[in-house]
Amino acid sequence: MYGGTSVMIHTTSWPYANETGITKKLSCDVLVLGGGLAGCYAAIAAARRGQSVILVEKGAVERSGSAGTGFDHWESACTNPCSGVTPEEIAWAYVNEQDYYSNGIAHYIECREGYDRVLDMESFGGKIRDTKNEFEGAAFRDEKTKLMFAYDYKNKFTLRVWGSTFKPSLYKELKRLGVKLLEHTEATALLTSFVNGKKHGAGACAMDVHTCKFYILRAKSTVLAMSRPARVWLFDADQPGLCEFRPFQSIGSGHAMGWRSGIEFTMMEKSVRAEYSAAGRSFPAYGTGNNHNTWYAATMVDARGVEIPYVDRDGKELTSVLERYYPAPGQKFFLKGGVIDNPKYEYRGPETLDFDELIKRGYQLPFYANLSRMPDEERRVIWGMMVGEEGKTKIPILQNYTKRGFDPTKDMLQSYGTGWQSANFLEQERQFFGAPGGILHDWDLKTNIDGIYAAGDQLYASDCAGFACATGYYAGRKAAAAAKSCELPSYDPEETAREQARLYAPLFVKDGISWKELNQAIAKAMQNYCGGVRCEALLREGLDLLGSYERDIVPKLSCKNPHELMRIHEVLDILTVAQIVLHASLHRKSSSAPLFFTRSDYPKMDPQADHCHIALHQENGTVIERRVPLDFFGDLQTEYEKRNIDYEEEREANGYAKR
Ligand SMILES: Cc1cc2nc3c(=O)[nH]c(=O)nc-3n(C[C@H](O)[C@H](O)[C@H](O)COP(=O)(O)OP(=O)(O)OC[C@H]3O[C@@H](n4cnc5c(N)ncnc54)[C@H](O)[C@@H]3O)c2cc1C
Repeated sequence: MYGGTSVMIHTTSWPYANETGITKKLSCDVLVLGGGLAGCYAAIAAARRGQSVILVEKGAVERSGSAGTGFDHWESACTNPCSGVTPEEIAWAYVNEQDYYSNGIAHYIECREGYDRVLDMESFGGKIRDTKNEFEGAAFRDEKTKLMFAYDYKNKFTLRVWGSTFKPSLYKELKRLGVKLLEHTEATALLTSFVNGKKHGAGACAMDVHTCKFYILRAKSTVLAMSRPARVWLFDADQPGLCEFRPFQSIGSGHAMGWRSGIEFTMMEKSVRAEYSAAGRSFPAYGTGNNHNTWYAATMVDARGVEIPYVDRDGKELTSVLERYYPAPGQKFFLKGGVIDNPKYEYRGPETLDFDELIKRGYQLPFYANLSRMPDEERRVIWGMMVGEEGKTKIPILQNYTKRGFDPTKDMLQSYGTGWQSANFLEQERQFFGAPGGILHDWDLKTNIDGIYAAGDQLYASDCAGFACATGYYAGRKAAAAAKSCELPSYDPEETAREQARLYAPLFVKDGISWKELNQAIAKAMQNYCGGVRCEALLREGLDLLGSYERDIVPKLSCKNPHELMRIHEVLDILTVAQIVLHASLHRKSSSAPLFFTRSDYPKMDPQADHCHIALHQENGTVIERRVPLDFFGDLQTEYEKRNIDYEEEREANGYAKR
């Protein structure tokens, strides 16, 4: 029974209890929403500081999130004992590489503290070294520490890691520290109240996605770690599980609930043409012949078996495999990894598989990755360790291909499409990829609302696992410090009652519209009105159309069980995210190359006046704009050191590596 009406939420085959209408109230010092890498580290940092911590995770913490199935390289471990670079060098390189539309604060934290998190991971049971001596003597292995490096073998700041061991290790550590885990529970709304006349986070509402039990979670500090939006432009109702690169349940709820509460966002107008793992149209990520990221620097050949040479930054053809892993003469280091693709080579050759350029040079399609022409340890580290540890590759790629007879010492893998992405997309088919927009924050990773922090892929211009672990831990310790000097804020029971009614509404609709139909409709609307080329009239049409969905479709949504109810909640959040993107696109009245943003009514590219963050939040439905200089974070080292003296003491006490 809920509100006097009986609600049938399960059929006879639904295996969980019906707890619709049951409300559970819990409180804690620090509430963490999202139990991926960032959320787990945030919870660990707060628990280490003696705070009571609740972590809410929609899936099962042991394997949830982007890194649940693993990841193969840990970027920016600049303080590891073999590193030839400083945190300052790499953090500024990231900022410059993105033309300052980059998260200087978070990258600096990643570069400065990332290796500490690697050592934490090892202490929790994660595998970070070649302890079985499988790669003894390889150029990418340090014999003393047994650490293994990717990409730049001279400067050794990207580690090859056994990421599939990480989430189970974090899970064990959370349990050991006594963090209260609410698993299979979706966070749905933030609670806020006023403390000393200022808006302050007060916790969140959540719902058990098996039973529909409703939670009111009160907290002194809250950390948002629910990843980034997805399924905004691309959705395939027949192949939902293949819609996106990141896990299906991560669709930007954190952005949606943040927006509804007045949290400030930036760069939400940025999106890239879809790359891969989108709408079920591409081959499985890392399962085709390519030489990007996991597959760097695989030997590429054309249809005749002619090798496509790598060249260095200065265009010099490289004659040995080993040279691909070293900076050019006079180049200090080169960046490489998930987001960073260009800086080693200006010539866009086999590195990015620029087919047009290669065809002009006489190479014949199709192209293949040919690992058989690589030294044994380079071949084994790609096909074996990297393809195996990278998320979603262990079973679909390594295991399946091997079972079906693929032998990297003899066989080649074909490339598809015009790049490593293994599929071609239209200009209007877009994705949140490549350091997209997100929450704007200060040096404490605090949002514009006191008591609410953010970390990992929820931050603007986020990009990788090391970034998520380091910012998660940092946000957790700042949230813990703030919680120590704050009383438990009150909350408005009318607000939680409204949220409960919103969540349960589809349970009362019989034979209505499914979540899939609404997701498809949003994606189509965004392709039509907020695609590759945008303008005022189109964007306003888009907002009107989404407004009509809210009025006409949302009240008709219905579901058969709590799982489908959760899917509806996700699509409602996607609708909110789509609206944020439309607003952000309206507010930037110029075009921008770094943001992949084109307005036909404002074609001027990157005018000086708009070379800034256009930060937006909403209050009572009105969108408010604030302009923030792109270099608002100041000098990275100076600003960081001012605020983290206590952490230096912790480093000393824990015996982390000396800088
Ligand atoms: C296939 C793949 C391979 C990758 N490989 C690498 C790599 O080799 N190196 C690298 O550096 N990076 C890699 N990345 C990126 C890296 O994994 C992510 O940047 C990182 O894991 C982000 O961590 P996060 O905690 O911010 O988000 P996630 O790890 O995605 O965690 C977000 C969590 O929030 C939960 N959640 C979402 N919504 C809600 C809600 N409403 N309520 C409660 N919980 C919610 C989700 O279930 C999820 O567990 C890869 C990503 C993918 C997808």
